[in-house]
Amino acid sequence: MSLSKRDQQVIWHPYTQAQLNTAPIAIVRGEGIYLFDEAGNKYLDAISSWWVNLHGHAHPYMAKKIEEQLLNLEHVIFAGFTHQPAIELAERLLSILPANQSRVFYSDNGSTATEVAIKMAVQYWHNKRFVKNKVIAFEHAYHGDTFGAMSVSARGSFTDAFSDLLFDVIHIPLPLKGKEAITVQQLQKHISESGDTIAAFIFEPLVLGAGGMLMYEADVLDQLIKICSENGILTIADEVMTGFGRTGKHFACGYLSGQPDIICLSKGITGGTMAFGATTCTNEIYSAFLSDDRSKTFFHGHSYTANPVACAAALASFDLLTKKECQQNIGRIAASHIDFIARNQDHKMLKNLRSTGTILAMDIETNEQTSYFNSVGSRLYNFFLNQGIILRPLGNTIYLMPPYCIEYDELKRVYSAIESLESNFKND
Ligand SMILES: *Cc1c(COP(=O)(O)O)cnc(C)c1O
Repeated sequence: MSLSKRDQQVIWHPYTQAQLNTAPIAIVRGEGIYLFDEAGNKYLDAISSWWVNLHGHAHPYMAKKIEEQLLNLEHVIFAGFTHQPAIELAERLLSILPANQSRVFYSDNGSTATEVAIKMAVQYWHNKRFVKNKVIAFEHAYHGDTFGAMSVSARGSFTDAFSDLLFDVIHIPLPLKGKEAITVQQLQKHISESGDTIAAFIFEPLVLGAGGMLMYEADVLDQLIKICSENGILTIADEVMTGFGRTGKHFACGYLSGQPDIICLSKGITGGTMAFGATTCTNEIYSAFLSDDRSKTFFHGHSYTANPVACAAALASFDLLTKKECQQNIGRIAASHIDFIARNQDHKMLKNLRSTGTILAMDIETNEQTSYFNSVGSRLYNFFLNQGIILRPLGNTIYLMPPYCIEYDELKRVYSAIESLESNFKND
């Protein structure tokens, strides 16, 4: 029996309606930006396998470093104990994060990184004896699938079944181009109404991922952060997707003049090799948990907190990311995206072309009501898959988020497939 058939007997896949979707493709091997299935077909991974991969699949240097760590120490409890990979990784992360960040708290994935951030912010105020527990978030936000992360994410089909169980969040509109003033006004209005009960503002800096690769400018984010800090509201930058070079700089926060109090990291942190997360914060926040009183402790941790193998993977990815060659690749991809946008301004089907660093996105003109469930999304997915390219549209939004090792010719192949939509894709 094929892997694909055996899978269908025993596995439940994420974000997948098994009754409607076709059988999953069984991947048996990866190399660089390519994945190979059990029938020998080859796929170009243009979305970095759900936004995690940075340096290509089965990278020999990553594999070597992970193996070395496994043979030395695979795991140790992280309460009462520590280890070199965790310490070195924290030192190196802090060396490239905004200067105000001073402590690193490890977890296992993006959702836990944001849960930790929200709990840190709320308990910070609790420890200081303030009654502040409301959170502000953007409309269209996505911060993960656990209950806290769902609460601060956009409400809709993903969260409907749980809506009564989610805590109340103040949602403000996205400061899309030309609409910045509305967002600023809304934030100010909520602060004047309930400012002294608001603990934190959580946001995806510059690019909202799952919400549809929606992009906004650093200037307005700087304004929002400034208003928050003037009003005693902590700011949380969810860099789970934007971190580690995606936006052209190591972190999207690198485009800001202000700095958030808390930063969430995951996805690309291990170069796409292992599940891992980190939440960093300022000394001011960390200090609020220091006390002779044990009740002020941050009572949060996961079995695999600071797993040494994941830390070693993150260190290896860090080595590759900070190499000149990788930084040049990032610049090259960003420049290619800008060229693509310039030459497709008048394309009949591609609208709202936009890019931030290595992330390119555009919307497909369609007569259908646009949503995640838009059938145009799955038709587009198959259109590209049939050409051996993995693009996974969000509704009618196509985006590219390639591993940084993608060659220009390979990028061109993906661009051409998208540009050919006009003649090849029946939008009926
Ligand atoms: C993917 C994502 C998360 C959740 O990360 P998981 O590892 O999938 O739990 C959180 N925030 C942002 C911005 C994301 O893109």
